[in-house]
Amino acid sequence: MDEAEEDAGFPAYRAARCASVAELDGAVTGCRACPRLVAWREEVAAVRRAAFRDEEYWARPVPGFGPADASLAVVGLAPAAHGGNRTGRMFTGDDAGDFLFAALHAAGLASQSTATHRADGLELYGVRITAPVHCAPPGNRPTPAERDTCRPWLAAELALLAPGLRAVVALGAFGWQALLPVLARAGWLLPRPRPGFRHGGLVTLPGGEGRGPLHVLGCYHPSRRNTFTGRLTAPMLTEVLERGARLAGGAG
Ligand code: SF4
Repeated sequence: MDEAEEDAGFPAYRAARCASVAELDGAVTGCRACPRLVAWREEVAAVRRAAFRDEEYWARPVPGFGPADASLAVVGLAPAAHGGNRTGRMFTGDDAGDFLFAALHAAGLASQSTATHRADGLELYGVRITAPVHCAPPGNRPTPAERDTCRPWLAAELALLAPGLRAVVALGAFGWQALLPVLARAGWLLPRPRPGFRHGGLVTLPGGEGRGPLHVLGCYHPSRRNTFTGRLTAPMLTEVLERGARLAGGAG
């Protein structure tokens, strides 16, 4: 019998038993292991933002999005309260997502430049978007304990992708810091000391046990603060994604 979905041990127990990315995507949406995040995702969905008053929010953990044999992964930090937590798809329905999907399309990695809801027809080519924390946190900041509790989901997802995965783009310093221990848990060997985040920074982890080397690229997060101030421009993001795609051996 499964452990209770409310149990802090549920992600580790359940994620390790997923035989496919599709199974994992289904299993994660039932997770209730972080009481603060469960309360927040549901409160946001009950109160809603005025612009989305008539919409039914997803209000559950948001699974990764993109093909199960992706050679490139883009890893953020966590879904946004009125973005992924509303639409049920990573980066879909908020400013950061608008910026990201336009860049993915410009890089030849997405079928369209906009993402508005789960049935909008968007397809990704060879790239999967996911996060180390699957529920929207208050203030966009999970606690270290929540980050650690959620880690098994992404570790299992990356381990399932591992046979074909060649590159990861980590969005933002928090995403980078959260990603490195996930990669270690998923079986990659990290250099010591652990490399710090830098936009355009590249770290290549050795392969082994049926895996090729994994290229990990840093990129500023497409948050409002970064894009409105020009710290991250559309050409900058497109360039990193194209580089990631080249390192992954795919399009772009
Ligand atoms: S953040 Fe992760 S571990 Fe916590 S409830 Fe959501 S899916 Fe489960």
